[in-house]
Amino acid sequence: MDKEDVKRIINNPGFIPGVYNYCDRWCERCPLTSRCANYATGEEFFPGSEEQGIHNERFWEQLGEVFRVTMEMLKEMAEERGIDLDSLDTSEYEEEHEKILEEAKTHPCVVAADKYAKRVDDWFDTKKKLYVEKGESLQKQVELGLTGSDPFGEAEGLKNATDVIRWHQYQIYVKLMRAMTGLLEGVPEIIKDMPKDSDGSAKVALIGIDRSIGAWGAIRGYFPTEEDEILDILVHLERLRRMTEETFPGARAFVRPGFD
Ligand code: SF4
Repeated sequence: MDKEDVKRIINNPGFIPGVYNYCDRWCERCPLTSRCANYATGEEFFPGSEEQGIHNERFWEQLGEVFRVTMEMLKEMAEERGIDLDSLDTSEYEEEHEKILEEAKTHPCVVAADKYAKRVDDWFDTKKKLYVEKGESLQKQVELGLTGSDPFGEAEGLKNATDVIRWHQYQIYVKLMRAMTGLLEGVPEIIKDMPKDSDGSAKVALIGIDRSIGAWGAIRGYFPTEEDEILDILVHLERLRRMTEETFPGARAFVRPGFD
């Protein structure tokens, strides 16, 4: 692989510019894989990496190669624009960024998102038995072949709802942290009229919250005995959703390239 290979992918006119900036990174379920340079790069340079696992030596070799090519391209672009990378002073920026990160972590939205992620872990940790029992009950239904029951559909529905919750569990926090740091850093005057990255990140978090609310609603249907606990989690998510919308009033209207 060399930088021409990377440029060939990046410059493909069939790809939607920046489509991967405000997606949920769930490529397996994404309708835009064929129009995403990020996906194409992964497929070309890391084929089958998910199945092989990231412990595979070849994977790390390829990643090292991508790093080398990216650095080559960065130097080339910097030269073209007259930027001296060696003279960049990062200390002041790092100090300021560190302060912003600390402040962002204490914002009620971020705190609530962090709490939510931990609650999800707690819930699944303590409900393993529930899932085992559900599996056994569905298995029994298959064996009995009862008319009117749909054990396979039920199993699939439960798996889907669980996957959605697990996928977004940490992403909501990550996206809200990004949105919050962007909000605190502010927008340079020169791009103040453009859509804000903080709104885009908050929108991805909101979509994750919406989907998680739906998924918890579905889980509630599968485990009626857990209604009180699930209701509590739903109230927490709803509170988080409202706080996020109030903090980022432009988020819902943000247009994500390719998706909206
Ligand atoms: S846009 Fe779709 S294919 Fe591309 S990185 Fe995001 S989820 Fe994956």
